[in-house]
Amino acid sequence: MSSSLWVEQFSERLQHIHQTLPSTVKLIAVSKQVSAAAIRTAYELGIRDFGESRIQEAAEKQIELADLPDLTWHLIGHLQTNKAAKALELFDWIHSVDSLKLAQRLDQLATQRLQPPKICLQVKIRTDPNKYGWTVSELLEHLPDLDRCSHLDIAGLMAIPPYGLPETETRAVFEQTRQLAEQIQQQPWNHIRLRELSMGMSDDYPLAVQAGATMIRLGRTLFGSRETT
Ligand SMILES: *Cc1c(COP(=O)(O)O)cnc(C)c1O
Repeated sequence: MSSSLWVEQFSERLQHIHQTLPSTVKLIAVSKQVSAAAIRTAYELGIRDFGESRIQEAAEKQIELADLPDLTWHLIGHLQTNKAAKALELFDWIHSVDSLKLAQRLDQLATQRLQPPKICLQVKIRTDPNKYGWTVSELLEHLPDLDRCSHLDIAGLMAIPPYGLPETETRAVFEQTRQLAEQIQQQPWNHIRLRELSMGMSDDYPLAVQAGATMIRLGRTLFGSRETT
């Protein structure tokens, strides 16, 4: 495809999404497997928030894009504890904090920072062997320990419904994620201040937005389908 056609299509898709999206919802362009050049084009069309799944891939692109001053990088993929320091260097947001051990490691690493790193807790509302994340009961049990992570800004919940659920079920997962956040915030925590709901991808984001998503993570519907690897 010629690059001007690609830009035109991208721009049309972006306009369409913006028309249907409340202005309070942050659009994160998921740029995994997308080139730095395509990210630059997205930037020129106004996107500032980009989501990546892998540390190494993000690091390489960030070097190529170092001249763009005002990018916000979101880590959306599973993070191994031994890469936590690198993740804090590269990302403004970590959506995929999925264990107490990882949260505590990030907290420890963040003691020297002026701004606490912004994180979301990844929850599994439905059992899903293919996904990382806390089950509801595990999360509720770990909240007191999480609240002692005083160097983190525990800002939201992140959810990914299991692949292939019927629409009513997907909607229910998003609704239950919002209700869980509301339930958690009814208690007087010191460091848990859930105000973001990171949920909704290309196939389901309208449902997520209706259920109260504040950040949606869109890949294919913006950049076109990824090469399968
Ligand atoms: C890949 C990915 C997305 C984007 O998925 P699309 O279906 O391409 O929109 C969003 N969130 C996470 C966690 C992902 O891994």
